[in-house]
Amino acid sequence: MLYVQSAVRSAAAAPFDRLQPEHVEPAIAELIDQCRAQLKEGLQEPGWDSTLAPLEEAQDRLNRAFSPVSHLNSVLSGPWRAPYEAALARVTAYWTELGQNRDLYKLYQQLAEAPEFASWPQARRKAVELGLRDFILSGVALEGEDRDRFAANSRRLAELSSRFANNVLDATSAWTWHTEDEAELSGLPQTALAAAKAAAETKALDGWLLTLEGPSYLAVMTHADNRELREEVHKAFVSRASETGPNGCEFDNSAVMEEILHLRAEQAMLLGMANYAELSLASKMAQDNDRVLEFLNDLAARSRPAAQQEFDQLQEFAAEKLGLDRLRPWDIAWAAEKLKQERYALSQEALRPYFPYEKVQTGLFAVVEKLFGIRVEADIGVPGWHGDVQFFWVTRGGERIAGFYLDAFAREKKRGGAWMDSVSTRRQTADGLQLPIAYLVCNFSSPVAGKPSLLTHYEVTTLFHEFGHGLHHMLTRVDVAAVSGINGVAWDAVELPSQFLENWCWQPEAIAMISGHFETGEPLPQALLDKMLAARNFQSAMFTVRQLEFALFDFKLHCLARGASAAAIQQLLDEVRAQLAVVPVAEENRFQHGFSHIFAGGYAAGYYSYKWAEVLSSDAFSLFEENGIFDSATGGRFLSSILEQGGSRDALDLFTEFRGRTPKIDALLRHSGIEQLELNTNPG
Ligand SMILES: [Zn+2]
Repeated sequence: MLYVQSAVRSAAAAPFDRLQPEHVEPAIAELIDQCRAQLKEGLQEPGWDSTLAPLEEAQDRLNRAFSPVSHLNSVLSGPWRAPYEAALARVTAYWTELGQNRDLYKLYQQLAEAPEFASWPQARRKAVELGLRDFILSGVALEGEDRDRFAANSRRLAELSSRFANNVLDATSAWTWHTEDEAELSGLPQTALAAAKAAAETKALDGWLLTLEGPSYLAVMTHADNRELREEVHKAFVSRASETGPNGCEFDNSAVMEEILHLRAEQAMLLGMANYAELSLASKMAQDNDRVLEFLNDLAARSRPAAQQEFDQLQEFAAEKLGLDRLRPWDIAWAAEKLKQERYALSQEALRPYFPYEKVQTGLFAVVEKLFGIRVEADIGVPGWHGDVQFFWVTRGGERIAGFYLDAFAREKKRGGAWMDSVSTRRQTADGLQLPIAYLVCNFSSPVAGKPSLLTHYEVTTLFHEFGHGLHHMLTRVDVAAVSGINGVAWDAVELPSQFLENWCWQPEAIAMISGHFETGEPLPQALLDKMLAARNFQSAMFTVRQLEFALFDFKLHCLARGASAAAIQQLLDEVRAQLAVVPVAEENRFQHGFSHIFAGGYAAGYYSYKWAEVLSSDAFSLFEENGIFDSATGGRFLSSILEQGGSRDALDLFTEFRGRTPKIDALLRHSGIEQLELNTNPG
């Protein structure tokens, strides 16, 4: 049982060649016992060295043992699922218990109030401050009745969130549309037809079955030529889980939303805040409610004219070429697809031969080597969990500073999507420095029969995106675990390095490094490159105002001090649409009833983060546009001001240090092509 632990400590990364499912549960149980014992002992004598450092050490051992288990469950599943679930239950229980520990909270308070605290190193101070903040936000600091009420509300909110999600899920699966006449599905691509056929087969039906699942819905909206069909599917989709839905009030989320908003407002009040938005921002980079509203309204005002222009062009095209004099909500995506084909006739498939995986990977490493003065070197001696997995060291001046596993290709039983996760965090231990190691996982199609894996450009940007997260984890110089790498980084700033690195996928100079025809080595032809760059911003202003509509609705809703009735929620959404929307909305539309991000996910009063992070990454990249996209001094500055600092300082301070000023939205507007389209630019 201690086998797992000692193996993890002695190996460079994690002992994937020796780890067995039966090792997991006893090892995790033992490590949690050690954490508990360490905590008890540490509480006797408050101090960094006597309490927090040994607790960090014990918890780091637990994290390094749990991380490969959680990872193997994601990438292999099978025999790892049961031990993972058992271990997860134990680990979750431990972290919950720790987060609710009043004695530990008081110890943090004591440390922060001690006179010598001011002379502590920055990272330690920040770790204590963030710890204190989290204790306060989880209600631990409250007393008596307030504390009980806060805890009861938290439990109820968890129930309501899952009920909201279940209603959306049930309403989604309760509706289907069946036909045996293929002509009704004209326009749908082969993949969508095959999926509809398979869906029919699972219900023992002949013909085709459409559903409201994402891929089926989007395929119909984008490609189905049958306008009545689009209308029917659209109305069913946008009214899910509401009183206007096809199942009547059966899955209606109205009362669930009302109660969630009411309880969130009450939680904020119990913590002495004016509203839930304030509570949400307490752990984010954005300073206060006014700043977020000002940011969203500013971006809205500057994007809307361009969005209106894009919509007018679409309407004009639809009238001339498609015979639609008045675009209805169910026509937009379909007409847009036709316009896009006419303007660019560019398919992602046509780009694949120019982006063979090996070339992209080598090019990516060359890009980051140029930017940050590091080298990436493969090490075939480090065992992985599958033949596809590679291990690399990141070195600087010949010295190893980090490492990562790369598992690039899709295979059976591997979870979909792409992500970065931590194997180990950089920190100072009694035996020296522990290096940060990362997992980078993607799901590209694997090489078959001598033909390499060929990526779409979208997949290329995915690899850069995840590598950006990886650099944030690996290039940190902080050695306190709680604020090292991506730990402790404000939620609305976490996507900065990842979106930032994506920019190089759009630069001709960098594209030359990551592309080359898999048979001839020929670079991406200029004509394809031009088309790709031109198509990048197709209807980006319309997309922007739609995201802003969601973000502004979410934020204003959570600025209300007492929650809102279902009618008031609708009214607020109507007002936001009146300010922003350029596309028509169906009468039945109850978008809010399916807005799981904010009612069932972690995005409440946080949806703005998507745009916020885009502003940061665009604005950061614009300094490279000014100084040269491979300017090493600018790269060095991004490294030292942002990547190396992790969560040890406030994200806004770090950004300001890098950029020489606070963030501006101009670069984002320019990168998304909105600025050029603007009719009346207000100078200054
Ligand atoms: Zn990301």
